[in-house]
Amino acid sequence: MRFKLQVHLPQYITKWFPLAVWRMPDDTKTLYLTFDDGPIPEVTPWVLDLLRSYNIKATFFAVGENVFHNPEIFEQIIDEGHAVGNHTYHHLQGLKSDNRTYYKDIVHANKLIGSNLFRPPHGWLKRAQYRYLSGKYKIVMWDVISCDYNQNITKEEVLQNVLDFARAGSIITFHDSKKAASHLYWVLPRAIAALKAEGYEFSKIEFPKVRRLFYSPALQRIRRLRNNIRQLSLWA
Ligand SMILES: [Zn+2]
Repeated sequence: MRFKLQVHLPQYITKWFPLAVWRMPDDTKTLYLTFDDGPIPEVTPWVLDLLRSYNIKATFFAVGENVFHNPEIFEQIIDEGHAVGNHTYHHLQGLKSDNRTYYKDIVHANKLIGSNLFRPPHGWLKRAQYRYLSGKYKIVMWDVISCDYNQNITKEEVLQNVLDFARAGSIITFHDSKKAASHLYWVLPRAIAALKAEGYEFSKIEFPKVRRLFYSPALQRIRRLRNNIRQLSLWA
């Protein structure tokens, strides 16, 4: 395995955050695809179509304000059996936010997302935030970052990042964002095909025993609203 800090953090760093999940159990050849920053109409439905064609379940770390603006796409993620996690409401950076603002933003997001998984935007938290949030959520980091958002590298390099570092239990990070789209469209189908050919299976991330805090019926309200709109449009 090559050394590439941007893509894969060495253990001496990850062990500073022992309560966070960096990799899932490695007893089977299973990989965990994760998609951050959606849902948005430009990219997320395309990702869902691709995953459906391979019958792959993945995990989407959603941004609250994107869920608010695109509830039907968020519903589709859930309806198609994927897992969802909280990625704050405004994609706040922990290191640049005061703790109270940061926690409020996460609670606000979870009124829509309703998940016991949390992934900090940009991957970093203050120690106090890490400790506090670890008591409320399972913090899910990554084993491999594709760097799909990085316009200074080629799509071939993004694919190589994934193929070089993926191993049993890897949590692999992609982005269903406009910034990553041009790389993602090329890389994701190729990465999935290549990894499947290597004998890997794919699964979503779940921690059913971690309690769900801050859960509110807002998600059900959105669903009911969308259902009503759908019914009305059928009658129209
Ligand atoms: Zn993000």
